[in-house]
Amino acid sequence: MSVFTDLVFEAGLVARSLGDYFSGGRLRLGVTGLSRSGKTVFLTALVNNLIAGARLPVLAASAEGRITRARLEPQPDDAVPRFAYEEHLASLGGPDRRWPQSTRRISQLRLTIEFESASGWGSKPSSLAIDLVDYPGEWLLDLPLLDKSYATWARETLNASETPARAPLSADWRAALGGLDAHAKADEDTARDIAERFTAYLRKARDDVYALSTLPPGRFLMPGDLEGSPALTFAPIPLGEGDAIASGTLAAMMERRYEAYKSHVVKPFFRDHFARLDRQIVLVDALTALNSGPAALADLENALSEVLRAFRAGRSSRFASIFRPRIDRILFAAAKADHLHHTSHDRLEAILRALTAKAIARAEGVGATIDVIALAAIRATREAEIRHGGETLPAIIGVPEKGEKIGGQLFDGVAEAAVFPGELPADPMAIFKGDGIALAESDNDWRFVRFRPPLTAPGQPAPQIRLDRALQFLFGDRLA
Ligand code: GDP
Repeated sequence: MSVFTDLVFEAGLVARSLGDYFSGGRLRLGVTGLSRSGKTVFLTALVNNLIAGARLPVLAASAEGRITRARLEPQPDDAVPRFAYEEHLASLGGPDRRWPQSTRRISQLRLTIEFESASGWGSKPSSLAIDLVDYPGEWLLDLPLLDKSYATWARETLNASETPARAPLSADWRAALGGLDAHAKADEDTARDIAERFTAYLRKARDDVYALSTLPPGRFLMPGDLEGSPALTFAPIPLGEGDAIASGTLAAMMERRYEAYKSHVVKPFFRDHFARLDRQIVLVDALTALNSGPAALADLENALSEVLRAFRAGRSSRFASIFRPRIDRILFAAAKADHLHHTSHDRLEAILRALTAKAIARAEGVGATIDVIALAAIRATREAEIRHGGETLPAIIGVPEKGEKIGGQLFDGVAEAAVFPGELPADPMAIFKGDGIALAESDNDWRFVRFRPPLTAPGQPAPQIRLDRALQFLFGDRLA
């Protein structure tokens, strides 16, 4: 049965690709990244800049004055929630100037750009419908589960939880496993208790202080619409090597739910959404990891290779029967570059290049062009030179969020602050050594300082950094 549905699905995909080919002027752009990497802000700024007709000098069609109009249209997929663009924009531009609600699940929006084509003889009117698909990057980390048995996954996850960085965080869950008999009769209360403790461990590891990257199952931290559902009520439990799993036992219950998670949650996501994307931007919060030091950076490097593995899969025979990605451009973007002085933007890009180098080298031959950029979809700061003890230092100025602290000073969400963000190292490899980068003066612990969104004139999009360059890479060629 499952082979049959896979075949039907494949046929559907082929038909859809042909349809897309003949109608032309359509592109599905995926926006992903781990939690709080800046997906919602990026997508809101992208749409806002294009609809408002903002000046985007590096986007060729914009620089050449060929974009006539950009507008939102009803999306073609009725079963996918709409990206709440208007709500996000209102939140940024409202009297309180708040950052929008972050991505919790998949959502979608169709933006149609009308433009004058520059190709051929003279210009002719054309349009490009871009389906923007925003989804949690955590979901991509589930791919390796598809060909992994419950017993293998349970063993690997338990081993990872015992490593020095994770052991203290997983102690409570592992203690509860101690008194457990995997071969005892299945019991819902026990299953729920173990699943809750396991989820609490995953959540703790992701906290800012540890900044460890997420382990699968991705939906345990980003459940989307599955919050509280039995599909998420399972966890690894220790099984002896080669143990047979008898029916009716706790182990059997866990295994069944794990398999259900794979077939009802993971597979449909890859087939129905991921496989249909043409282009992809992966946002990365490299600054938080930089501030946490080499362990967090190594962890981020791993998570990024896992993410890139999803793009490579399907071109290899392992997953080819399940889905076949057709993505031909992938952009890795270090977000929130407005936390740095512009002299460090190229260095941030070099660091992200170093973080993704191994994964990209392995992805050679995926048939996709991959690039790396540092950007700020919304620039919340401005730059200044400040005289400090006879020296002139480059600074950034913004309004820290209410309750934020810098060097003992508590902010009220109204007053501006100047911070000296320090310089990133010229040699990107330096980040993998030592105790993390002192990005600020030692008594100015600005690492977790969040600035409020900037004040903008009505109807005007917020300023940005290199957003236009990102857009040129992602779809500039389709506006030629
Ligand atoms: P998501 O979880 O990937 O959707 O992340 P968001 O887009 O909600 O971003 C998470 C937080 O990062 C926001 O609430 C902002 O505080 C911050 N952020 C995101 N993008 C930017 C940016 O371009 N500039 C600045 N200064 N902060 C940003």
